[in-house]
Amino acid sequence: MLARYQSACQVLDRHFGFPRFRPQQGAVVRSVLSGRDTLGILPTGGGKSVCFQVPAMVVGGYTLVISPLISLMQDQVAAALARGIPAVSLAGPMTRAQVTAALDTVAGGGARLLYISPERLQRVAEELERRQLFPALLAVDEVHCIAEWGHDFRPSFRTLRRLRQRLGRPPVVALTGSATEAVRREIADTLDLGGRQRDFDLHLGSFNRRNLWFGVHRVGSEQQRVRVLLELLAADDTMSIVYAPTRKATESIAGLLRESGHRAVAYHAGLERTVRAHRLEAFLDDEVDVIVATSAFGMGIDKPTVRLVIHWSMPPTPESYYQEAGRAGRDGSRARCILLYRPGDAVVHQRQLDATFPSRKVLEEIWSGRTPPSRVPAAVAASAERLRRELRPRWGLHVDWRPVEKRRRAAAARIEAVERYATGRGCRRAALLRYFGEAPGECSGCDHCRRVIPDVFTDPDVRRRLASLRRAVSRLQAPWPGGLLDDATLARLAARPPRTEEELAAIPGVGAPLAARYGRLLVEGLSNAESPAGESALEAALLDWRSRTAAGLGIPAIELLTATAIHALATRRPTTSVEVARIASFGPRMRAKFAGELIALIDEQAAGGNAQSEAGQSAALHSCVEGTAESTRLMNSRSGDRVAEVTAMSRCLPEREAEASKGSIPEAALSRQ
Ligand SMILES: [Zn+2]
Repeated sequence: MLARYQSACQVLDRHFGFPRFRPQQGAVVRSVLSGRDTLGILPTGGGKSVCFQVPAMVVGGYTLVISPLISLMQDQVAAALARGIPAVSLAGPMTRAQVTAALDTVAGGGARLLYISPERLQRVAEELERRQLFPALLAVDEVHCIAEWGHDFRPSFRTLRRLRQRLGRPPVVALTGSATEAVRREIADTLDLGGRQRDFDLHLGSFNRRNLWFGVHRVGSEQQRVRVLLELLAADDTMSIVYAPTRKATESIAGLLRESGHRAVAYHAGLERTVRAHRLEAFLDDEVDVIVATSAFGMGIDKPTVRLVIHWSMPPTPESYYQEAGRAGRDGSRARCILLYRPGDAVVHQRQLDATFPSRKVLEEIWSGRTPPSRVPAAVAASAERLRRELRPRWGLHVDWRPVEKRRRAAAARIEAVERYATGRGCRRAALLRYFGEAPGECSGCDHCRRVIPDVFTDPDVRRRLASLRRAVSRLQAPWPGGLLDDATLARLAARPPRTEEELAAIPGVGAPLAARYGRLLVEGLSNAESPAGESALEAALLDWRSRTAAGLGIPAIELLTATAIHALATRRPTTSVEVARIASFGPRMRAKFAGELIALIDEQAAGGNAQSEAGQSAALHSCVEGTAESTRLMNSRSGDRVAEVTAMSRCLPEREAEASKGSIPEAALSRQ
């Protein structure tokens, strides 16, 4: 066992360039190598694929990777190949001959990883069985898709227990970013983890992402929903995702945003493939600022620099909320997650619940043939069919409804849990963490606790290099966590740019195979970072001050200072607090609090200094990208003063004024909602 773990460490070093596993990864890999069934819940994103790719290279044979992310499978294979890990996939339209060729490669030992969707596995399992192509390890990615309730549910996941049996019952490593205890039980039952005794290893990472700020805006009408959305987006959060419940809603919200001057696009599964790819690419390339997506289709959107995730309305489960909100701030920099909640939002989910678990009476009607499936909504018919296969009703025989009733109750409880999150009076972060079974510590920022989350990437040069590097990498492949370079590695590169291929290869997370293949592109990407054109340095500094201060207060930045005021401050450079107050339209109390800071900022910029520079900055940045507890400590101690200051400040803020939205909502757009 020890020898196996040592060779796993060598694989990690050789193919991924990391000297050691992250703590959770190491634990998962150890238990996989010991041959035990393993469930890994690794919420903070990134590094999940290491948990099966590294063991795949150690255990021999091939590892069957079941992934629901069909559209990303080819990227995942490309990323594995780039790391020197032989992989094939059965994804997308393939001819019979192509499938056979891929399986021949696996049979000939030419691939360590075989990626496949659960739907296709149902069709291919027989051939694998016939050719005795039994995997050494079964990896199930995004395993929460097993859970029947929630937007990600994929019915074919529920066949995996049987398929596993047919494939010689290999050990399983199942991975996901989130799963409550109930979902974990459902996963264990569905995959038969640890046999009848359920004797398997569970590895649970922390759900706490300190750089995310959580808030809820309660609205009383659809008009108000629009108004708040516009206010939030009017702040200078440059990259935002808005989650909307339906395809139609994404289109009308995106249209509305465009009419208000935002570069916004809708993104959902109903779009033609090329249109979808084009829109996603535009978002990844910074050509649009807002992507309005259906919750069902957010999984492919993974852009590290998303600063704001807004939910148009209440999602069906805390899991989906946390997962979607968690697409903010993947780069480790601060970001906000805001839910717009209108009492009554839950009704649509309760209706969905009735479609997922139709009543006994409806089911009996359909099963008996008295009501043909074509007479009921498609979703109800599909559920009736799914449950018929599960419950196997026979005429005159007793049907055991208990398992289904239990699952329905659990689903209802999850709707209630999101509603409690939206209406609760306590700390939002604590509410989420408690739901996921984690004891909450000190909150690093939410609308009820009103704390500042400091931004560690304050050095404009580092930020610029990071952006340029991401553009270079995003041209290679979709920046999915299982992809080529994770966020921490990119941040490391931006903080201390390597000059040569050798230096590049030595950076943790890169390694020799990638450096040899993409070295030039990465080094060029770093050197292409140029100074931003357009706004002056002072204006940039003022914008930065505004976003930091407003984020700490949990208010849209525009409520603090409008863009016009920022421009005026930058060009007129006031020297007294009265002048500042006149430009910024601050009242006396606001003036007392902010004018001094702004004058100091303008002074420093005029003197050519950088108001943001601090002695500890590069150390803090470096330590942050290492992702250790140490960085958290550092961030906290650096921000200590500011926390007290802002808390004091928030008491003298005026009531919210809808200044941002004055007259800016097109009536036509409203009526479309
Ligand atoms: Zn809090």
